[in-house]
Amino acid sequence: MKHSDFDVVVIGAGHAGTEAAHAAARMGATTALVTLSATDIGVMSCNPAIGGLGKGHLVREIDALDGVMGRVADQAGIQFRLLNRRKGPAVQGPRTQADRALYRAAMQRETTAHPNLSVLVGEVTDFLVNGPAVTGIRLADESEIRAGAVILTSGTFLRGVIHIGDVSRPGGRMGDRPSVKLAERLDSLNLPLGRLKTGTPPRLDGRTIDWSGLERQDGDDEPTLFSFLSMGVVAPQISCGITHTNARTHEIIEKNLSRSAMYGGHIDGIGPRYCPSIEDKIVRFADKESHQIFLEPEGVNDHTIYPNGISTSLPQDVQVDYVRSIKGLEKAEILQPGYAIEYDYVDPRVLTSSLSLPEAPGLYLAGQINGTTGYEEAAAQGMVAGLNAALQVLGRDPIQFTRSDSYIGVMVDDLTTRGVAEPYRMFTSRAEFRLSLRADNADQRLTPIGIRLGCVSETRRKHFSEKMEKLEAAKKKLTDHTYTPKEVREAGIEVNQDGNRRDGMAILAFPDVSFEDLVPLIPELQDVESGIRQQVERDALYANYIERQRRDVEAMKRDEAYEIPRDFDFFALDGLSSEMKQKLSNARPENVAQASRIEGVTPAALTLVLAKLRRDQ
Ligand code: FAD
Repeated sequence: MKHSDFDVVVIGAGHAGTEAAHAAARMGATTALVTLSATDIGVMSCNPAIGGLGKGHLVREIDALDGVMGRVADQAGIQFRLLNRRKGPAVQGPRTQADRALYRAAMQRETTAHPNLSVLVGEVTDFLVNGPAVTGIRLADESEIRAGAVILTSGTFLRGVIHIGDVSRPGGRMGDRPSVKLAERLDSLNLPLGRLKTGTPPRLDGRTIDWSGLERQDGDDEPTLFSFLSMGVVAPQISCGITHTNARTHEIIEKNLSRSAMYGGHIDGIGPRYCPSIEDKIVRFADKESHQIFLEPEGVNDHTIYPNGISTSLPQDVQVDYVRSIKGLEKAEILQPGYAIEYDYVDPRVLTSSLSLPEAPGLYLAGQINGTTGYEEAAAQGMVAGLNAALQVLGRDPIQFTRSDSYIGVMVDDLTTRGVAEPYRMFTSRAEFRLSLRADNADQRLTPIGIRLGCVSETRRKHFSEKMEKLEAAKKKLTDHTYTPKEVREAGIEVNQDGNRRDGMAILAFPDVSFEDLVPLIPELQDVESGIRQQVERDALYANYIERQRRDVEAMKRDEAYEIPRDFDFFALDGLSSEMKQKLSNARPENVAQASRIEGVTPAALTLVLAKLRRDQ
């Protein structure tokens, strides 16, 4: 029997696992990444795209902490689009269509290059334990690996079942076996488990599509990249096609609804409301005559097309019929049928904000296993678990991301205090402080935290401090003097003629004023480079709102300072209703701010908890 020792062992090399392993390795922990197959590293199970609304913010934040997803997406991107371009910068989301093979190759390069990171191939079947503590893993070949901390990121593989129409079979993903033994082992930990489902569309052969009559969608002329360190686009750029379902498509689907796994009663799990299958769309939006489909190439040297918008669990013959009823797809060949997958997830309310399991010290969970959906959500959790597992092994305090510093903090708080009723995905609307949590300032918010933790490379640290120096110098030029409205108007800029003197930042806060407009008024701004100009503009535009948000953030921080001990007995609190006692005990909030966000917890209940905490101080 072999024995190996690592500080941190990560199970699964999907999006959560790779990011977790990198984060732990960057912190200086010796890390093993265990995967069913070396070619699994960086596999995109569903659509070949990274980012989007809310998700793009997460990728920028991962990058700000020197994570890998943003860099890899920039290397593999074959079409870059900034979504919500017409709206304010706070809700714009960078997105890239990625070349599947390039993404996987770039992620494999990054993963094998790190000196603290070893990739081990094998199926994890069991945990090594010492009392309740998890101290390592056992592989299918009976070898054992001991570790200071273990991070489980097994995605949809726990008791995964694949459905195509009325045919179902066990599977972690198309072509992969599920993780049955590990699921059985998890049962012995008595974790609250639930069942969720997700689906994917049929993949089409692009050579059999008639592109001639279809609308095209090009990428942006000036691509918005994910990484603060990327210098430009690397891969060749492509356009996508757009087509639509029609009355005939809807008729075929309606007629066969009973044969769909999701509607034929074969699946119990709850699916993502925001990413519905085509069956869902036809039933829920019955009055809609047509649905848009984006035909997205999966790579520059790949004929596979991902038809975004028609994920399904209908039988294969029905998939052929409805696909061929769509304009441009009349002769389309299906390379791989669409399918639905049902899998176990762990109710994330049992986790701490480090994503650790207090009932099994040493064990962390990240990614789809926690009830989320999406590569970006998985990677961001991987980052949190990887940093914290390394901090634990190094004997340092955990790092807690908060709702006021990051989307990462919003997601972890949502998961651990509210749990999930359906697969959780990120939206900008989930972040109450979204005006300050912008994709463009993720580095200003998080890179200093990364530098303090020690997970940021010297290259990034230097790049960041040079940028901040330039930013501060530009802001100083803008705030050194104030100007009367008359002086401002004489420089050709329209502001309120209210008699108030304003400095350059205050003038720039007017939505119609650009940095360039200010140069005649403040000639020293002439030599400020374009990237810094754009950043200063955005910082100025939001400065007033952020000042207003500051008070709310401070109030939340005060509540966060009231920590609730893990063994706090809500049932012993006089005056608290049994419903509140149950809700609070189930959610086990770490502080009063978290308690206040639990659905249905009343201000009166919070007052009682606060009073008890004060008495106990
Ligand atoms: P994964 O990326 O699944 O990685 C899990 C890894 O764990 C795998 O590499 C596997 O080999 C490994 N593993 C499992 N068990 C073991 C074991 N015992 N030992 C060793 N290794 C193990 N997201 C969206 O945003 N939109 C969608 O429309 C969408 N549709 C999807 C459709 C399907 C069919 C699937 C499968 C997923 C879909 N997703 C979608 C979700 C997205 O793919 C996942 O959220 C994301 O990949 C989760 O990342 P993860 O790291 O948690 O898990």
